[in-house]
Amino acid sequence: MRTKRRDKVTFLDRDGVINEAPGGSGYVTTWEQFRFIDGALDALRTLKRKGYRLVVVTNQQGVGKGLMDIGALETIHRNLRARSADHGAAIDGVFFCPHRADDGCCCRKPRPGLIHQAIRELGLDLDLDRSWLIGDSPRDMEAGAAAGLNTLLIAPIAKSTPHLAPWAVAASLADAAQLL
Ligand SMILES: [Mg+2]
Ligand SMILES: [Zn+2]
Repeated sequence: MRTKRRDKVTFLDRDGVINEAPGGSGYVTTWEQFRFIDGALDALRTLKRKGYRLVVVTNQQGVGKGLMDIGALETIHRNLRARSADHGAAIDGVFFCPHRADDGCCCRKPRPGLIHQAIRELGLDLDLDRSWLIGDSPRDMEAGAAAGLNTLLIAPIAKSTPHLAPWAVAASLADAAQLL
């Protein structure tokens, strides 16, 4: 008897992977400021077609700092999900950490709490060998590794730096989607 196929999942950081990272130490505080990176929606669809579930895991300490309204953040994520679904890339879940770095919570990356929360709430039966954390910062890589995932760093060539860790690297989510 065949056993049920386990879930292969891409856990995706948001800013700098799906949408343009806000400049400086700023935050995307409204949907009007949210800009998809060229090719990102296509890449999400490609991943979906390859059988990956799509889960967004994002640090948003602007909430904890009082710089961003949680209702506005939820609107951003509702619109992100609607646009992705319209594009054939329905997102399975969006999980965010609203805490400040100095709150010491267990969900802010580089800690893996947000990933564990997603696994729990979505009832994922994770195929760890074929699941990935895709992000654009070392914090993301650390969180992914701590959760036992493969990790892929998005590093636009101009900005990429040599590193020693056994990570996969791609210049964009579009490149990553081809690779996976
Ligand atoms: Mg990022
Ligand atoms: Zn948190």
